[in-house]
Amino acid sequence: MESLSLQDAERRFGAGRPETRGLICVVGAGPKALATAAKSQVLRELGVDAPRVLVVEPYDVGANWTAVGGRTNGRPRLSTSPEKDLGFPYASRGHGAEIDAAVNTRMQEFSWTAFLVSSGRYAAWVDAGRPSPRHVDWAAYLRWAAENIDFPLVSGWVRGLETSGGQWEVTVEGSAGGSAVLWADRVMISGPGPHDGRLASDAVCSIEEFWRLGLDTTLVDPSVAVVGGGETAAAVVEDLIRQHSGRTTVISPYPVVFSRGEGFFENALYSSPERWRELPERDRREVIARTDRGVYSPRAIEAIATEAAVLYQQGTVTAVRRAGAQVELTLHNPGRAEHTCRFDVVIDATGARPDWFLDLLGNRARAALAAVVGDGPETAEALERLIRVDLSVDGLLPKLLLPTLAAYAQGPGFANLSSLGLLSDRVLAADRSTPAPTARPQISLPEGGKPV
Ligand SMILES: Cc1cc2nc3c(=O)[nH]c(=O)nc-3n(C[C@H](O)[C@H](O)[C@H](O)COP(=O)(O)OP(=O)(O)OC[C@H]3O[C@@H](n4cnc5c(N)ncnc54)[C@H](O)[C@@H]3O)c2cc1C
Repeated sequence: MESLSLQDAERRFGAGRPETRGLICVVGAGPKALATAAKSQVLRELGVDAPRVLVVEPYDVGANWTAVGGRTNGRPRLSTSPEKDLGFPYASRGHGAEIDAAVNTRMQEFSWTAFLVSSGRYAAWVDAGRPSPRHVDWAAYLRWAAENIDFPLVSGWVRGLETSGGQWEVTVEGSAGGSAVLWADRVMISGPGPHDGRLASDAVCSIEEFWRLGLDTTLVDPSVAVVGGGETAAAVVEDLIRQHSGRTTVISPYPVVFSRGEGFFENALYSSPERWRELPERDRREVIARTDRGVYSPRAIEAIATEAAVLYQQGTVTAVRRAGAQVELTLHNPGRAEHTCRFDVVIDATGARPDWFLDLLGNRARAALAAVVGDGPETAEALERLIRVDLSVDGLLPKLLLPTLAAYAQGPGFANLSSLGLLSDRVLAADRSTPAPTARPQISLPEGGKPV
């Protein structure tokens, strides 16, 4: 990893610089950026003409897995296996058998197990039954990998993305002040973006406040509501049950807190999504709903289920108001009368906005995106139907890579940590002509068709 000052970055990646040709600029130094940078390095070292990767990150590598990013305090454990690491599933193809084999071998130098071996902890981890690492350990793995990957890192916030002369013009506000304009042929968005929260009330504790300040109350046994049914909420609940002995109530619109099965067939669809594009819309939505969005991992469920003090209430929060020292929530359930309930503390764990990056787009970029979307607004729902094999938005040039919205069109693992090796293969592959799938795929498996 080469940390560049804004001035040096602008000297190398400013307007008209040759190094910007073929360059992919990644917003955020998380696992997706590192997986892509590592694969780019390995391919180039093996003589393949792969695009280079530039990363812009305001904090540190892996910030969202430590308290710095405001999504965890580092203590919760990863819910997917750490062996789903930067190279997983180690199945690169398309460069000829010899190079493919070499790529898969070389990528293991950046694996979770290589990290443990390098720090003398491998045997202890295996002997302990391969426990899920805490987020902070996952961040340490990412930082270790970054140190061993050859890529430029610019410390700052991407504040603007505009199209100009067939390239992206990336405006960066430096973490230590100043700004720079960098250019790249492609931009990849990573991460969940800012945590807006949907409850929009100063009576509730935002997810960032919770992870930075802990449970902000002087009560010994407060009643706490956690609003949200996904992984963000699961991490909060797990932490709460260790922090206090009061009652925690999980509130979400679903009838129960759903859990993933994490069985072979689900996992296989994540690791090798070839079959995914043949599935009709209904089946894709069902897989995503059951395995990714709004579900807790089995490990989180197990940790929570052992605590009698965790309750569940179904409902969508429609109003929030202060009621003396407490907070009153109004819950809506279709076909039932609205009802209210009160808590000492309410935590908004409703998750992030999947289309957060739209706020970064300049006028020309926004107009170009509107043109490819066609009728209707450029929402996450509209964009996710347009994601191509290389995870870019179909029809938009310069290319905008949106792995976080690729689950529906390309496979459920691209949005998370489940197939980072495949993600990097797709992003770095030579330009392909395969179009995005049609909004409603026509091909379906024959009755009783076998999974991969
Ligand atoms: C609490 C929690 C637990 C999770 N656990 C799992 C899990 O176990 N398994 C799994 O598969 N998924 C999990 N997820 C989902 C996870 O967010 C995704 O898997 C995601 O893909 C993480 O990798 P990433 O590289 O996209 O982004 P991240 O690791 O989220 O990195 C994004 C980076 O972007 C930076 N950034 C933000 N804004 C800007 C900007 N404007 N300019 C530049 N940089 C910016 C951030 O500082 C951050 O470092 C979890 C999510 C949460 C919230």
